[in-house]
Amino acid sequence: MNIALIAHDKKKDELVQFATAYQTIFAKHTLFATGTTGLRISEATGLSITRFQSGPLGGDQQIGAMIAKNNMDAVFFFRDPLSSQPHEPDVTALVRLCDVYSIPLATNMGTAELLIRGLELGLIEWRNIVKDNGENNGK
Ligand code: PGA
Repeated sequence: MNIALIAHDKKKDELVQFATAYQTIFAKHTLFATGTTGLRISEATGLSITRFQSGPLGGDQQIGAMIAKNNMDAVFFFRDPLSSQPHEPDVTALVRLCDVYSIPLATNMGTAELLIRGLELGLIEWRNIVKDNGENNGK
């Protein structure tokens, strides 16, 4: 499965802790991240991560493009709900694309726990069927 990891600055420590705790699960998947988040996680865990631009410089949009091409299977996006972001439109667009394509999205630690355990149990294997069928119209 292709998995995206993104955290706003005040949430980066949380996502690093989360990725460290579940690194044996994450290691079985192909990981992508925005620039700084990916650097922090790979330094802390040694996980191999394809890093895009930093979020404010277009990283969220690069991940969004993967979603639109049916190439992303789950997104862990630890948002900071208490700070305004210079790239808020990109953030909104990424969340919207997850909804358009029914991509599992965890925006906080509580849901992330469920998503990672679901991933471990194979509960999102339906993504492989969607991909095999070439279903990608979001309807
Ligand atoms: P960053 O981007 O990982 O490069 O900090 C995340 C974001 O703010 O969208």
